[in-house]
Amino acid sequence: MSHPVMRKCSFCGAIREKSLLYRFVKDKDESIIWDKFQTAPGRGAYLCRKNDCLKKAEKKASLQRSLKAKGAYFFEIPKVGVDR
Ligand SMILES: [Zn+2]
Repeated sequence: MSHPVMRKCSFCGAIREKSLLYRFVKDKDESIIWDKFQTAPGRGAYLCRKNDCLKKAEKKASLQRSLKAKGAYFFEIPKVGVDR
């Protein structure tokens, strides 16, 4: 059995299985996009699938800091519970 891949939420610091977090990457234009299928190349940042982390991370620019993006907000916050 292999160990699950663990990642840390950029907002609250919780460490969870990667598949249980949302992954975000920096786009070419410095905006932050949701990497829905967790397959985009480059450095990723992760957030819990909780409204709390998603909303507060946006307010506090947690992803911008993690990804060293120049302040552009991610244009789509995934809706918690919609998982496809
Ligand atoms: Zn979190």
